Amino acid sequence: MATTRIVIVGGGAAGLALASKLGRKYGSGDKVDVCLIDKSPIHIWKPKLHEVAVGVIDQSIEGLLYRDHGLKNGYRYIRGELESCDPANKTIQLAAVNNDSGELLLEPRQIQFDYLVFALGGVSNSFNTKGAEQHCIFLDSLEKANLFHQKLLDALLQLNETQEKVSIGIVGAGATGVELAAELHHVIESVKEYGYLNISKQHLEVHLIEASPKILPQLPERVSSRAQAVLDKIGIRLHIGVQVKEVTKEGFITQDGNVIPANLKVWAAGVKGPDAFAYFSELPITPRNQIEVDTCMRVKGQTDIYALGDCALLTLDSGKVIPPRAQAASQMADTLFDNIVNRLQGKDEKPFIYKDYGSLVSLSRFSAVGNLMGNLRSGSFFVEGHIARMMYISLYQRHLASLYGWFSAIVYRVAQKLLKWHRPKLKLH
Ligand SMILES: Cc1cc2nc3c(=O)[nH]c(=O)nc-3n(C[C@H](O)[C@H](O)[C@H](O)COP(=O)(O)OP(=O)(O)OC[C@H]3O[C@@H](n4cnc5c(N)ncnc54)[C@H](O)[C@@H]3O)c2cc1C
Repeated sequence: MATTRIVIVGGGAAGLALASKLGRKYGSGDKVDVCLIDKSPIHIWKPKLHEVAVGVIDQSIEGLLYRDHGLKNGYRYIRGELESCDPANKTIQLAAVNNDSGELLLEPRQIQFDYLVFALGGVSNSFNTKGAEQHCIFLDSLEKANLFHQKLLDALLQLNETQEKVSIGIVGAGATGVELAAELHHVIESVKEYGYLNISKQHLEVHLIEASPKILPQLPERVSSRAQAVLDKIGIRLHIGVQVKEVTKEGFITQDGNVIPANLKVWAAGVKGPDAFAYFSELPITPRNQIEVDTCMRVKGQTDIYALGDCALLTLDSGKVIPPRAQAASQMADTLFDNIVNRLQGKDEKPFIYKDYGSLVSLSRFSAVGNLMGNLRSGSFFVEGHIARMMYISLYQRHLASLYGWFSAIVYRVAQKLLKWHRPKLKLH
């Protein structure tokens, strides 16, 4: 019997979990070939990108190498960037690969599939704001988080010599913006230990700009107001109900003409699908570059192409749209795993059921806040402080468990902690 080729493009919260589960189930046999394609060689769980950006985690310790993980979990990894898809001929095309000096390493490649899964995630949405692409760092990939980290280190080096104030502006007070602002404050407090003796909190201004009338606009009022109180206390400058009209080298120009100065500018607002989708004319792509799927995550109008995670637009029968969140991505991976296994066994697929467990937002080492969903009668309840922080950490642990299994995930976490123990608390290069 011919081998069934399952190709998953994108190894993030959704795609990597799916590839790991399929690989562990089928990797030892020759009936199913599971192949994961990602443009990056390393996976870092996206909710941790702000920690990479400020240097509190180091990708050389926390990063997962697809090639090694694939070998141990039964899937093949191919490094490449999706460029186009030909559904009729069941092929995708990967872009040419160049080295850092622009020399061609690999010609564009074609990959054949029997089943294809898009799990490309999303990118921040500048909503065509003038100057945003040119002047802001979009905190939506490992590469950009590293770029921010480098610029932050450069700024600290200069600041230590000149003591001229550094101003960092973040557009978007969703979870990403709020968590980044709190982490930056923590970093400034910590750098003194590493010889930056002339730097103190007074030298850093962090501006957090949000167009909605409250921070964390998607979360309940109590979570927003508590997070706002913590940010106020640590001196983050909040600009709430303020819309950015233009970004310049000097800073942000708001709708009412004010200028918020910023040396370093971050765009952490909005989510849209990957740019590559804009050219997929044969597939149902929305104006926000997401791909429309049915409740079994099958791309509308296709039989063997699926999409999940942030790149997919899934509307439940109730009319509810699945939000672009890590917990949704991971639940989708679980359901699609069951459905692919069922399909290969000639059984029916089951529709996706979303269970909202609530949201947690980390406020660096200061705290965490969030709401957790109780049962139908009690609705959601508010958590904060150490309990919320422990729960926030356990979310990452669950992600690791989906990649390694529970036992290995715990061993892996302990090993990481030991490695970190004799390394600097901050990544300083
Ligand atoms: C800084 C930050 C903090 C967040 N915090 C939270 C949080 O606290 N809680 C929460 O629930 N959610 C959070 N989110 C959202 C959450 O991370 C996403 O919803 C989740 O990661 C989506 O998973 P995914 O698999 O769809 O995409 P991703 O995890 O983004 O993975 C996509 C993968 O596709 C690859 N890829 C992209 N384009 C291509 C291409 N053309 N070719 C090949 N590979 C490609 C990427 O390299 C990546 O590995 C946060 C997001 C960010 C950016």
